[in-house]
Amino acid sequence: MKTIKLRPGKERSLQRRHPWVFEGSIHKGGGDSGETLRIESSEGEFLGWAAFSPQSLIRARVWSFDENERIDAAFFRRRIAAAVAVRQRLPIASNAMRLIHGEADGLPGLVVDRYDDILSVQFSSAGTERWKKQIAEALLEVTGLSRLYERSDANVRSLEGLPEVRGWLHGEGATELTIREHEWRLSLDVAEGHKTGYYLDQRDNRKKFAEVVRQYGCKKVLNCFSYTGGFSVAALAGGAEQVTSVDSSGPALARATAHVALNGFDPARHQALDADVNATLRAALKNGERYDAIVLDPPKFAPTAAHAERAARAYKDINRLALMLLQPGGLLFTFSCSGGIPPDLFHKIVAGAGVDAQADGFILDRVGATPDHPQTICFPEGEYLKGLLILKR
Ligand code: SAH
Repeated sequence: MKTIKLRPGKERSLQRRHPWVFEGSIHKGGGDSGETLRIESSEGEFLGWAAFSPQSLIRARVWSFDENERIDAAFFRRRIAAAVAVRQRLPIASNAMRLIHGEADGLPGLVVDRYDDILSVQFSSAGTERWKKQIAEALLEVTGLSRLYERSDANVRSLEGLPEVRGWLHGEGATELTIREHEWRLSLDVAEGHKTGYYLDQRDNRKKFAEVVRQYGCKKVLNCFSYTGGFSVAALAGGAEQVTSVDSSGPALARATAHVALNGFDPARHQALDADVNATLRAALKNGERYDAIVLDPPKFAPTAAHAERAARAYKDINRLALMLLQPGGLLFTFSCSGGIPPDLFHKIVAGAGVDAQADGFILDRVGATPDHPQTICFPEGEYLKGLLILKR
């Protein structure tokens, strides 16, 4: 059995069950791409069984902290079955959900989303790449489904030295389908959509938005970074009279427009704007526009802490503009999905935006991702999505 020996003192995070071994912690040892290695302390004490990633800064990811556990097909079947079983107990108001959320489910580098009868899967580490066949078989067996589409086309694959792959791993047929989310119907394409097809982590925040739009009587709503218009459908369901979806993706906006009709709303109540959000907010301000509610759900401005400073300026800017565009009593639902921006920093950024906009507000709610994208005690990096619901004074 090949081994990695850590430098003195570098065993602590593994002893606290954090699954990453960074390049700089390693004294010696290694193996082939994705190979299972024994990780031990400088004293030779067992720490975990891990998959080796020869090209990544995260040089190894721990599968198991149990010395007696064997990493084989049965291991993946057990972990997958456990993850699927816990989803059955979570409150998930949809036939689309995340079944495997990487490290949080003890399977670093694996993301599996279920969209009705299609599994959409991303293998993003050397370890999951190596065990792809066994993982795919276990997924089909545990879920009883027969169609599995691979979306290993995220740029994180390049950090692992892996090529981008997209296509059916099992089964075939149309990649477009319609899911149910709360009382809404939404379409997506697992081959063409962002990530694995859709942003399932915002499911409950969309519902929340429909509720507050109704509760506070918001009529004119601006949904920034709308993608396929999930928050726009929510706003219409909440009784908004005029909703604008802004995104820089034409295909996403076409779907947003289709979603308005699909859910039985008058198309005249919705406008799709193919534009840059920042420019749109500035133009709206210049034209004296005002809104009753604004959603800001931008892409990851800071993938890691190293990007935090530049990202902070970008977040602050859009939040400042949005606060200025809101009527007094209007609602701002603002998000960051950057792992590199912790919740307290996000709060400070929005506070800074408020100062610059000369606007204050009540924080009505602090929200995160849906429970099928769990955060775990041992893996703080799992807390990526955070949102604030603010009532402008
Ligand atoms: N709120 C969406 C998810 C948003 S994901 C939902 O509920 O499903 C972020 C979106 O921002 C993507 O659709 C992407 O196309 C869009 N985007 C990224 N940069 C942009 C920019 N500068 N201006 C407008 N849209 C942008």
